[in-house]
Amino acid sequence: MTIEQLRHYRAYTPHPFTKAERDKVTLLFGGLHWRAERLLQAVLENLGYRAKSLPPVSREDLFRGRELADIGQCCPTTFTTGNLVNYLEKERDRIGAQAVERDYVYVTAGSCGSCRFGQYHQSYELALRNIGLDNFRLFLMAQDSLDQGNATGDGLEFNMALTLGAVWAVLCSDVLRDLEYQIRPYEVVPGSTQRAVKAAVEELYQVFRARPVRGRKWGVLGWHVTTNYFVDALKHVRRHFETIEVDRLRVKPKVKITGEFYLQTVESMANYSIHGWLEEEGAEVYPAAVAIWLDYNIRFAAERLRDSRGVGPLAGPKAAGLRVLSRLLRFSYDRLRGALMNIPRAMPDQYELQRLASPFFDHRLSGGEGDMLIGKALWAHLSRKAHMTCELSPYGCMPNTMSVGAMAAVQGKHPDLLYAPLEIKGDSEVHALSRCQMVLSEALKRAQGEFEAALACAGLSEVQARGLLDARPEMRTALYQVPHLGAAGTAANTVLALAGRRL
Ligand code: SF4
Repeated sequence: MTIEQLRHYRAYTPHPFTKAERDKVTLLFGGLHWRAERLLQAVLENLGYRAKSLPPVSREDLFRGRELADIGQCCPTTFTTGNLVNYLEKERDRIGAQAVERDYVYVTAGSCGSCRFGQYHQSYELALRNIGLDNFRLFLMAQDSLDQGNATGDGLEFNMALTLGAVWAVLCSDVLRDLEYQIRPYEVVPGSTQRAVKAAVEELYQVFRARPVRGRKWGVLGWHVTTNYFVDALKHVRRHFETIEVDRLRVKPKVKITGEFYLQTVESMANYSIHGWLEEEGAEVYPAAVAIWLDYNIRFAAERLRDSRGVGPLAGPKAAGLRVLSRLLRFSYDRLRGALMNIPRAMPDQYELQRLASPFFDHRLSGGEGDMLIGKALWAHLSRKAHMTCELSPYGCMPNTMSVGAMAAVQGKHPDLLYAPLEIKGDSEVHALSRCQMVLSEALKRAQGEFEAALACAGLSEVQARGLLDARPEMRTALYQVPHLGAAGTAANTVLALAGRRL
């Protein structure tokens, strides 16, 4: 190679995207589950953009990502890079490279920090260069700023209306998803929950598309926090679930999903479709809400500011402001839960998670989910929220490797905590799932033992419990809230509720 051929490294800077292009250019995005992506599409369309979510990740995306981007990257980067590239290549073959560069841009979350989340866009850029789409435009929505002005030309405005629309789309899809996962394992007519969720998401899509954007900057925040617009929409869509009949005396192990943000959120081949697989294996899944991750990021930023009090300017007031923001998030989340009869579960308290994790993991260690993985596993175990925790750890992920290491100490102190850490590489499905199955069989035994203990505590046989349940038709409806009476399992809590006892 001659000196003339050398190209020095330059940080990626996209060509501007202008307002005049808005009605011709489609914003591509992905990385969440289908409910959140559909609502996010509505948020973008509501603001005058054309938007489309990328298809669910496939094995071909994994192979393409490995082939085209950095070999040292973590597996979510591989998946998302391959997913973007495969989609664009199909479009390039259909309409040509120039048209792809002209008609599409990709919008993704980004950050700086200790893990590779800060470098995803560099991977995308490298892969796009490798397929001859050097001028394709990628835009980052930084996770630590609510309003970033027009940093990328005037076409794409990362402002409060967009950010808060995205946040509320996430909150609504979180509560809806949590409701769905509590109903489906017990539905009497297979497929009834899925039909209800699809209808509900389509209605919410229209609600977000018609969202009135009131106020400017902080006024937009005030409107989102105080409006009944989203609460009423959820109250309206809950009728889709009202007629679903359920049988909650089916004994099922409850499995809390934790792990790296992307892997715990998506429902695709990227995590071996673990949510669906667990349900097929007879479990009730407790999915990970994106809102908890948002709350963690606020807590983390507030803690950093608190540590810099006396050094950084206005660190104290800024930290106090973030604590208010966290309360507003919880307040809004609880209002949306209320619209679904409070069946979706509340967010855990971030300082409780920090306290639980602190003997094992320093809360100042950043990257990924930080101390939350330890905190959530202990919280689910000690407060009987689930029988086991399934942690999805990406291959090549530094923060998750640290958490899994620290979990060895946690298990030393809490040997009865059922924990299945699955390393996800994309092509070792049999290995990962069989490992999960071993822990799941223990969780099933535990759920069965707990159910028998609940029957004994209630002084009932299973047949008597069923007779009592049949006499209370409201308890056979999807929108009945089973109280938490000291058991992790739904069947055990149902027996205790029938008898008015606690375990
Ligand atoms: S948390 Fe891990 S998997 Fe996720 S971006 Fe960071 S390094 Fe990659």
